Amino acid sequence: MNVYDAARMADVMAPHGYEATGQAEDADLIILNTCHIREKSAEKVYSELGRLRLLREERAANSGAPAGPMIAVGGCVAQAEGEELLRRAPFVDVAFGPQTYHRLPEMVERALRDGGGVGDTDFPVESKFDFLPEAVGNAGTAAFLTIQEGCDKFCSFCVVPYTRGSEYSRPVEDVLAEARGLVARGAREITLLGQNVNAYHGAALGSGPGGDWTLGRLVRSLAEIDGLSRIRYTTSHPRDMDDDLITAHGELPQLMPYLHLPVQSGSDRMLAAMNRGHDVAAYLRIIEKLRKARSDIALSSDFIVGHPGETDADFQDTMALISEVEFAQAYSFKFSRRPGTPGAVMPGQLTEDIKSDRLEKLHDILNRQQIAFNEKSIGHAVPVLFDRPGARPNQILGRSPHMQAVYVTCNTSRDMTAHLGNISDVRIIAARANSLAGSLLPMNDDKYPATEISETASV
Ligand code: SAH
Ligand code: SF4
Repeated sequence: MNVYDAARMADVMAPHGYEATGQAEDADLIILNTCHIREKSAEKVYSELGRLRLLREERAANSGAPAGPMIAVGGCVAQAEGEELLRRAPFVDVAFGPQTYHRLPEMVERALRDGGGVGDTDFPVESKFDFLPEAVGNAGTAAFLTIQEGCDKFCSFCVVPYTRGSEYSRPVEDVLAEARGLVARGAREITLLGQNVNAYHGAALGSGPGGDWTLGRLVRSLAEIDGLSRIRYTTSHPRDMDDDLITAHGELPQLMPYLHLPVQSGSDRMLAAMNRGHDVAAYLRIIEKLRKARSDIALSSDFIVGHPGETDADFQDTMALISEVEFAQAYSFKFSRRPGTPGAVMPGQLTEDIKSDRLEKLHDILNRQQIAFNEKSIGHAVPVLFDRPGARPNQILGRSPHMQAVYVTCNTSRDMTAHLGNISDVRIIAARANSLAGSLLPMNDDKYPATEISETASV
């Protein structure tokens, strides 16, 4: 979601003469778009700010160089620590939260006029989406689209309800129009984003009270867009995984057979302490239904080890759940005490040693499952949507339906251009933990028609 937000910040600044640069050294304005989810990500902001301060001092010492750059901090760290941030790093010119970036031009102008120190961490009544300019230019082959934001679930460990605010769903027509725009600008795949994306309940014109659309209905409508070959959505909550959405997985070929469905723990006791609102059996029932609807669906999850009160037996329950489900991929984290959350002050906090030990065991089993999953592709033909060049000569990189990164080497740079932005079948010849390698099979234009603008597909 931060990637999506950052692109929209660039859209907001474009009419004011700003364009994105890949080099901080060249910039007139540097925006750090930050994450507050765990302590480690929040700490990174301050070390990065120290580096940027040096950059500014170097530029000031170099008399021929233009002044600046101006430094802005956006996102959830700014939302949670706006005032403290301006105090701890007084050289920051602008600090703004995730819901106010439509006001960025005004903040930058004020900071230029007043010499910095501008903060805006409101939760405004207006939705930023109503004030963002229409995006222009190439959307990239695989694009993101935020349809839902915020969260009212208040899991014991999590800052999201405090930093992103309460649940909000964008209206159906706005989502459909943005999706059509992305496809017209080159997207072949769209990932719908939300902190609880499957809690989507967007209003549609004329649908009246109680007529909100669910995610299942939205996905069915998106699947009708010509040229949109792949649809994904993330992140889902087990509590909002309704039958219609599950059925859609069996019915829509565009809906990719891969689902990130975080469970956090395999212990009912921990799930209750975390305030997740479901138990292990409910999670397993969802997986069973999903696999019935779409037998090749691959699953991914998030896990937290060392939540306050977690015993060895609770941890073993998590290991047992992992063995039972067999994940294609997963993210796992040590519990991080986040200020203002109930989990931060719960009794039974665990030592770093215990957390590290459990995380290592979790990594080990998840890694083995991921390799086993990837190895199953060897010898098979897999449709890959190529969205970027690789690091080696004539190499291109794309994603399988199951989100695996797939590398192939083309014979010529012309071949590279032909495949970028398109779906091609690849015979998989090697599998590693984080990627697959293969060779291109002859292009089949009837099966995966190339789009006209595929040659301008961006990196
Ligand atoms: N809405 C999603 C998750 C959003 S946060 C859900 O409910 O599943 C992304 C992930 O960060 C979470 O799934 C969780 O595993 C991890 N996370 C959040 N807060 C954390 C904390 N305090 N310590 C460690 N991991 C945390
Ligand atoms: Fe955080 Fe997800 Fe729980 Fe909401 S549902 S509080 S975003 S972990």
